[in-house]
Amino acid sequence: MTAIKSKTEYETVIGLEVHAQLKTKTKIFCSCPVDFGAEPNTNVCPVCLGMPGVLPVLNRQVVAYAIKTGLALNCTVTKHCKFDRKQYFYPDLPKNYQISQYDQPICENGYLEVSGKRIEIQRIHMEEDAGKLVHAGSDRLHGSDYSLVDYNRTGTPLIEIVSMPDIRSAEEAKEYAQLLRSILRYLDVCDGNLEEGSMRCDVNVSIRPIGSTTFGTRCEIKNVNSFKSLIRATESEVERQKEIIESGGRIIQETRLFEENSGKTVSMRSKEEAHDYRYFPEPDLVPLEISAQWINEIKETIPELPNQKKLRYPKDYGLNSEEAKVLIEDRNLAEFYEAVIRLGANAKKAANWLIGPVTAYMKEHKTDILNCCMTPKQLADLLGFIEKGAINDNIAKTEILEELLGQGTDSEEIIKQKGLAQITDTSALKEAVKEVLESNPTQLKDLKEGKEKIRGFFVGQVMKKTGGKASPQIVNALIDELIK
Ligand code: ADP
Ligand code: MG
Ligand code: ZN
Repeated sequence: MTAIKSKTEYETVIGLEVHAQLKTKTKIFCSCPVDFGAEPNTNVCPVCLGMPGVLPVLNRQVVAYAIKTGLALNCTVTKHCKFDRKQYFYPDLPKNYQISQYDQPICENGYLEVSGKRIEIQRIHMEEDAGKLVHAGSDRLHGSDYSLVDYNRTGTPLIEIVSMPDIRSAEEAKEYAQLLRSILRYLDVCDGNLEEGSMRCDVNVSIRPIGSTTFGTRCEIKNVNSFKSLIRATESEVERQKEIIESGGRIIQETRLFEENSGKTVSMRSKEEAHDYRYFPEPDLVPLEISAQWINEIKETIPELPNQKKLRYPKDYGLNSEEAKVLIEDRNLAEFYEAVIRLGANAKKAANWLIGPVTAYMKEHKTDILNCCMTPKQLADLLGFIEKGAINDNIAKTEILEELLGQGTDSEEIIKQKGLAQITDTSALKEAVKEVLESNPTQLKDLKEGKEKIRGFFVGQVMKKTGGKASPQIVNALIDELIK
């Protein structure tokens, strides 16, 4: 008997650190505007340039946004917290330290449910962003000739949302990050734009043999700037770690960079420990006392969140989860949809219209529901006209919707102007149906023999005759009557 060498199966363990740039008007510790389109080094002042002798003043809105996010992610908001200095030297950090929060983050112990599974959130803390280095004159072979620094971003408020290592696959990491982004957008605290860096994900990855109860050594991957690269980076890092372990090596804890072109992660620096940063309490800022009343006031401003809507839509509106997902993705679209339903429209029909022709229009015109002229009332009215049989579905889609979305003209007006009212006069339609049946004897024979597929041809012919205005229900009834 030959011994079969058992192949080890591994489990992936992932924890995400997400930096979200907050949508405040001004920076976290000075009154410089947060404005990303500005000329380099124009939104700066002695405070964010780290001049000697200046004092930071905390932007209250930053704290409010951090609390709002924490509440939405089921965290406990710490009543007492403080800021700390994290020291490191880098040309984009003019003070040579970053004001952050170390051992007393503003929010702790939250969670997010992703496809029914709970991913715990360890902490959320506030900190300031660094400036931006622009490596000029670079080419692949020789690197940069020189670098420039833009301090406009210095002092932009960030929150860092740290998950527990509860995530078990690249796909799950993506789902978590997508839901997180959606929530940040609903809360209106962050743009959530990965490509532009207003939301940045650092992915901590380790592997362990299935069944093992201890974690493996992790690597942190930076520079992941799309959901697609989140998946690619994680999968390639898992493969790299497997190869090392299978060949008898061990993983060294380090920070790695994802390279978009090669699809691989490369070593960036060995992992720094907390003591490398020589944290100490920021002496220029007083500790924060957060009142229960303020927390309650902020709680009041939290809208129904996408994860809550996702559970409610199928229940209340009979949508499937795919339909719900499309509507919920954009908060404005979801709210538009709910407004249409409140006006009495059929929930399923309204969803189909928004997901189908309305979304197609928005894609084609590169716009969104807020920038379309159509109001919820106008869509509800349009659906009402179809339901009453005043116009047919096809006419509504091809002749009315575009004008409704583009110009905001009421459907009633368009119907009158273009003479689109559905022909429901049975005797008028009967003539048309008769003619069509008589002039197509071959097809008529098929239909009489029960070949129902041919029916669409006759309905189409009648539509052609009537400029698309015939009521399809009546045409079908007349066909039945006349072929008996
Ligand atoms: P640091 O402060 O050095 O960044 P943390 O303990 O705060 O380290 O963890 C950072 C992130 O790494 C968290 O999201 C956490 O979930 C994740 N993490 C910790 N241990 C592991 C591990 N063994 N494998 C994967 N991720 C991990
Ligand atoms: Mg960290
Ligand atoms: Zn400033």
